[in-house]
Amino acid sequence: MFAQFGPAGNPDAFYEAGHKASADMPEWLGGLSLKAYEYQCSRGVHVGQATAERVGEQAACYDVKISIHAPYFISLATEDETIAANTLKHFQRSLEVAKWMGADRLVFHIGGPGKGGDRRQAMERSKRLFAQVLEQAECLGLTGPLLLPETMGKQNQLGSVDEVLELCKLSDRVRPAVDFGHLHAVTGGQYTTSQEFAAVFDKIAETLGAGAAQNLHIHFSRIEFTKAGERRHWTFADPYGPPHEPLLAVIAERGYTPRIICESAGTQAQDAITMQDFYKGLLKKDF
Ligand SMILES: [Zn+2]
Repeated sequence: MFAQFGPAGNPDAFYEAGHKASADMPEWLGGLSLKAYEYQCSRGVHVGQATAERVGEQAACYDVKISIHAPYFISLATEDETIAANTLKHFQRSLEVAKWMGADRLVFHIGGPGKGGDRRQAMERSKRLFAQVLEQAECLGLTGPLLLPETMGKQNQLGSVDEVLELCKLSDRVRPAVDFGHLHAVTGGQYTTSQEFAAVFDKIAETLGAGAAQNLHIHFSRIEFTKAGERRHWTFADPYGPPHEPLLAVIAERGYTPRIICESAGTQAQDAITMQDFYKGLLKKDF
């Protein structure tokens, strides 16, 4: 078992090659020896059952593991009843798509504490609504995929490593999605050394057990930031951090088998290959 690499969404090169449909992505990724694909429902769940099932069949055929990114409209910390009801709906619909696609992981953003809002209270509200999300999934028989709260890149978003782990402790169906680009941005440029990357894996292992660190879900991209945190995603050709080499060194050295989703702007498959090639070089193995 090795780490798996792949893109978030469909890269520019996919469209430039004349493709239009996401159902073609698994075959296209297979041709590049990439083994992961994060399907984007971030702007809402718009995919129908037939298309979703087609993506899933193709993914199984080309041995590509599928995760889904849930809508950005999810807000677990909300005090508004309509937004809370919509949040439950977004989870339900995303989990249905996950089932159709055979996706085993659903990544989501916790939400914000609101203007001037207290983070602690916002986390308590988030945990209460998230308990309902878990219960709803149980009732509907949608407990297949793991639910993954993501570490976020802006100061005004919930999703520090500790906040993410707090949600993970609610159920063993919940695991972290660690976006190291976001962590780099929100800490004003940390996460450039092996020690800093290793510390995240250590904390996850201590809190959730060794398996959670071993099979971590990772997002990675170069990110420009300001004092407020994340500004925008760039590509590996651009002069931003964090560097991928020290992260992959920790992964190779410790024999971890994470799924690493590259979120570069447009070059996410190409940059995933760059990471995969570097990782293979460290292992001195092709696969
Ligand atoms: Zn995200």
